[in-house]
Amino acid sequence: MRFAVLGSGSQGNGTLIASNNTCILVDCGFSLRETERRLVRLGVSPHQLSAILVTHEHADHVHGVGLLSRRYNLPVYMSRGTQRGMRKPLEPAGFVADGETLQIGALSVHVTRVAHDAQEPTQYVFSDGQRRFGLLTDLGSYCAGILDSYRDLDALMIEANHCRDLLARGHYPAFLKRRVGGQEGHLNNHQAASLVAELGWQDLQHLVLAHLSSKNNLPQLARQCFVDTLGCDPDWLQLADQDSGLDWRTIA
Ligand SMILES: [Zn+2]
Ligand SMILES: [Zn+2]
Repeated sequence: MRFAVLGSGSQGNGTLIASNNTCILVDCGFSLRETERRLVRLGVSPHQLSAILVTHEHADHVHGVGLLSRRYNLPVYMSRGTQRGMRKPLEPAGFVADGETLQIGALSVHVTRVAHDAQEPTQYVFSDGQRRFGLLTDLGSYCAGILDSYRDLDALMIEANHCRDLLARGHYPAFLKRRVGGQEGHLNNHQAASLVAELGWQDLQHLVLAHLSSKNNLPQLARQCFVDTLGCDPDWLQLADQDSGLDWRTIA
């Protein structure tokens, strides 16, 4: 199994998970042209995509989903709530719901509901029968159910959205600070690192920090928080960037 990131952050998200002839794109927050450009950068033709899986209806995750799916005739999967929440609703090939597992080609996808300020936000764990990759962004808090779903992974990409202090001191209006830092907002560095500590990280081949805020976080702050919490090697941590994403990583 392999994964790569088209880009990660509030300006647009897209993650590829591939195994054998299956290649799933999770979210598409970029314009059609920009998506095509970023796919080419990763050596993928849009025609090679098997499906688009949507996590929730926020623009940084769905902006390009409609156009891309129509242009290349790609099946789309999302929760009923996400469909309801989309400004331009589209008819998905199938709906996903908390606790379900669906099969898309060679990959099985386990669906977990998360706490985020959207209609029915979901995050996903992928398996090719041998290895498991977890994607976990856009959540303000986590419960035992999340920990159960994300245990025993071989690779994890997790949101480290903001630094609590930078958010508190920054220029966001009070309501936005409450939203971002709230139970249904985004994980801060400390929450994300604590979550990974609870899951256990020694068996992870890849740990990727994602969805970093450009205003309320810094890569070195996020890294340092994980190093302090986990005691891991700073060079082992990886970061999915807004502009450059992350090149293909193999889960052996
Ligand atoms: Zn987002
Ligand atoms: Zn969101």
